[in-house]
Amino acid sequence: MAAYNPFETAQRQIDKCADILKLDPGTRAILRVPKRELHVAFPVRMDDGSMKLFQGFRVQYNDARGPAKGGIRFHPDETIDTVRALAAWMTWKCALLDLPLGGGKGGVICDVKSLSASELERVSRAYIQNVYQMIGPETDVPAPDVYTTPQIMAWMMDEYSKIMGKSQFGVITGKPLCIGGSRGRGDATARGGMYAIREAAKVLGIDLGKATVAIQGYGNAGNFAARLSKELFGCKVVAVSDSKGGVYSKGGLDPEAVFRCKEDTCSVVNLPGAKQITNDELLALNVDILIPAALENVITEKNAGKVKAKILAELANGPTTPEADDILYKNGVHVIPDFLCNAGGVTVSYFEMVQNAMMYCWEEKEVYERLEARMVSAYSSVLSTSQQYKINMRQAAYVRAVERVVEAMKLRGWV
Ligand code: NAD
Repeated sequence: MAAYNPFETAQRQIDKCADILKLDPGTRAILRVPKRELHVAFPVRMDDGSMKLFQGFRVQYNDARGPAKGGIRFHPDETIDTVRALAAWMTWKCALLDLPLGGGKGGVICDVKSLSASELERVSRAYIQNVYQMIGPETDVPAPDVYTTPQIMAWMMDEYSKIMGKSQFGVITGKPLCIGGSRGRGDATARGGMYAIREAAKVLGIDLGKATVAIQGYGNAGNFAARLSKELFGCKVVAVSDSKGGVYSKGGLDPEAVFRCKEDTCSVVNLPGAKQITNDELLALNVDILIPAALENVITEKNAGKVKAKILAELANGPTTPEADDILYKNGVHVIPDFLCNAGGVTVSYFEMVQNAMMYCWEEKEVYERLEARMVSAYSSVLSTSQQYKINMRQAAYVRAVERVVEAMKLRGWV
């Protein structure tokens, strides 16, 4: 069987959208490929004195709506097609949230776990030395992604600033707060998802104060989703899980106690007083809201029919396969698709760019209010598109996003 190629998937999604929107061949051709890509190979001195060659990429997929935006991944299995696909998805995500940004992505083929801190710093700086001509606050603004951290963003910003001869905080987002980071970035992904869930609950007539929630994954996204669903709406979080399994309590779990348990014992499964369940059982629980916040491809044609939740809020990227999507739609499960549900992170990254450009730092309250306005508006435009074209929420999100990119290309005279 041929290996899964994410870029082929991304192109198929564009083709489907282009059919719905009846786009002309020229416009389709532009949307199917990245505008610009850079492949680099650079040597880095290792701690033992040897020199090692690393390979990296930066892809700008489409910048019709503004500077490219998208993370940098450090991963041993990184490929140019993964970066292309992720850059395409960033284009649609930024357009859907109506951010004045295009889509980009970058990566270095490396295994972070095998590098010392000083080697990691040298790899990060060397990557910037090799791609600096392509990035910049007004052209292309990277951010953290898999295995890249605020510390790495700080080194990269510093390297770019040294090359430019001046502080350039706006070249990268996801930085630590004291060197141009934004308040509210930590829980932004989960918080954005909460605003979308609240809008969906209004549409479906669900009283969130009485709603039950199950969450798969208890990392950054899942842990904050548990805390916020209780704190903001008074929901009852009845089940959570991680890679080792899950726990269930009919009366509700205390998200803080679960967090401490995971910190102390490396898993939620050791929570005292809760019943242990499997990840498969969690996905099939009779809850109002199911939040996959871990891996891709967990809801498939095999288990989609067992999902009893009224709302499926995809904080994880790609948790649902296309076959499962059709089953969920037929069964009336209201899906908040990943690139809408988890767009809070990139939205607050955009706010970080704005604050850097203004040389000003907003209070947390201001960040949250602006995030809420963006999420509410994006949710409502996806819902109305889904009703207008009689398509599911995921297809509607694609259609709305691609429509906006095409509008910008037309106005700029590209098509
Ligand atoms: P994380 O590494 O902090 O947490 C992942 C969690 O998933 C961990 O608790 C881990 O134990 C659990 N997990 C791993 N394998 C599992 C399995 N087989 N079954 C159940 N749980 C399993 O990652 P994160 O940052 O919370 O990201 C989670 C998802 O959310 C990813 O799909 C990511 O792309 C997406 N996302 C995150 C952000 C963000 O800002 N953190 C933004 C957008 C999208």
